[in-house]
Amino acid sequence: MFYRDTWVEIDLDRIYHNVSHIKAFSGFEHLFAVVKANAYGHGDVEVARVALEAGASHLAVAFLDEALALRKQFPQTKILVMGPIRPTDLQHAAEQQITVTAHDLAWIEAISDYRGPRANIHLKLDTGMNRIGLIGPEQLDQALKQLRQHPAVNLCGLFTHFATADCIDDYYKQQSRAFDALVEGIDLSQFEIVHQSNSAAMLRHGKQQHSNGGRLGIAMYGLPPSDDLELPFELQQAFSLHARITQLKTIQSGTKVGYAASYEAPREERIATLPLGYADGWLRYHQGRKVEIDGRRFPIVGRVCMDQCMIRVDDEVQLGDQVTLLGDLITVTDAADDLNTINYEIVCSISDRVPRLYKRGGQTVGERYDRYDGRTD
Ligand SMILES: *Cc1c(COP(=O)(O)O)cnc(C)c1O
Repeated sequence: MFYRDTWVEIDLDRIYHNVSHIKAFSGFEHLFAVVKANAYGHGDVEVARVALEAGASHLAVAFLDEALALRKQFPQTKILVMGPIRPTDLQHAAEQQITVTAHDLAWIEAISDYRGPRANIHLKLDTGMNRIGLIGPEQLDQALKQLRQHPAVNLCGLFTHFATADCIDDYYKQQSRAFDALVEGIDLSQFEIVHQSNSAAMLRHGKQQHSNGGRLGIAMYGLPPSDDLELPFELQQAFSLHARITQLKTIQSGTKVGYAASYEAPREERIATLPLGYADGWLRYHQGRKVEIDGRRFPIVGRVCMDQCMIRVDDEVQLGDQVTLLGDLITVTDAADDLNTINYEIVCSISDRVPRLYKRGGQTVGERYDRYDGRTD
């Protein structure tokens, strides 16, 4: 239940469409559904469920906390934490069958006397991102030696991450060649899964020679990883943001609107108020952008407030009308382009003060509003 006229709709059929097409196109045997950051703001449990149904085999998140929350809903599914965890938390991760990442030699040293339940570990190689991962053949050799002879470690995966798969340049090839060179002479069959690609690499470059898996994030949600990527098939944006007009008024020429009185009507105008603002992740930067009402576009005028914002409308618009702030007409990627950022940031920003409604076959099949209704599953 919720009592405000602002909501996000997630079309789960579209996520199913995206995952199944990408899975078929990529040819990967293993596909991680990347559901970190509450599935990029979409809702981790709901997205994970439909992604697994559509052909994903594993889940991936950034932090152990995210993995532990998912474990409660997915007792059997393989879940990888892609970022570093504290060495002292390995026992807890292993008890919950969460796979973790060995990202540098100091971490591997710190777990050398770990003797808890067998810990599943993927080894992360840094081939040019310079964020986390082992660098160069000596570090790789030493890591392999230490992890293989560790009595409580199951080394089951090997991976790297591309810095530029979303743009056209040679750095991808450089990283890809660096990975190939690093693993030359290593028996890769000892790993259940070797994975390099994110969404962009999967859509732009296909399967690499040495990989049998990939990590699918942004494209699963139907959002293109970059503007210049020619998509091999249609991606369908699953996320849409809506609100209903709470007040409608006519103001006279010279009337000012909002904080700082920054907007002044140049003539008589109709102004509608919407019940969402920057505390919902509808940031002040959206001022001046357009929103949709029934296929037509209207501008946001004045400052975006914490809980509300105002738009200029025409005579046809009525009190209670549904306004679509992000959808099929004005997409998440359009908003990102307007704001000089990436579509990832737009969906991740919409806060948990906004309820999420889940749709399948055009019907509402669930909702999520944990922060206020206290649901814990
Ligand atoms: C977030 C993340 C991904 C997913 O990237 P997309 O561009 O959203 O597909 C893959 N791998 C790692 C290591 C990540 O952190």
